[in-house]
Amino acid sequence: MIWHSTRRSEEGTMCHPVDGSSWKEFDQNYPKFSREPRNVRLGLAADETSLMLSLLIPGLKSPGKDIDVFLRPLVEELKQLCQTRVHTKDAATNTFFTMKAALLWTINDYPARSSLSGWSGHGYKACPTCNEDTPSISVTNKIVCVGHRRFLAANHPLRKNLNFNGKQEIRPPPRQFSNADIKA
Ligand SMILES: [Zn+2]
Repeated sequence: MIWHSTRRSEEGTMCHPVDGSSWKEFDQNYPKFSREPRNVRLGLAADETSLMLSLLIPGLKSPGKDIDVFLRPLVEELKQLCQTRVHTKDAATNTFFTMKAALLWTINDYPARSSLSGWSGHGYKACPTCNEDTPSISVTNKIVCVGHRRFLAANHPLRKNLNFNGKQEIRPPPRQFSNADIKA
């Protein structure tokens, strides 16, 4: 559990979440949390069969937006772990300490992301990255997201390729949306 505080990966290799940018950014933003190596950083993994941490949601189908019912107790517990401290036994040293925990990552496929975030994965604004700038079009009776060549470097040869939609892509990537933008 405290490997990240006692060892380091070889320069240029990534073998532990501590090597990633989100861990480093979290350390900068929450130095008090980071000073206690026994504090826990969590990842929430969900897929369409709905296996999350130690919570198993029964049923043959994905619960869809009703997943909120199952998430509420988890959110309450995460808030308690993040905002207050929990008296915890360190079994390695047989001592007690006050632990905090933070949810740092979510790992899921596209449909599960919609269920977890509340962002609809259907319709003209289905892409949470592109948000209101989602380049979607209607094709027969389906709505499809196209135009992701705009994420390529400005001089990338595929931007000039006419085989996609007969046009060159000259638009820059969509703007970065802040948390406040997304909540609005
Ligand atoms: Zn997109």
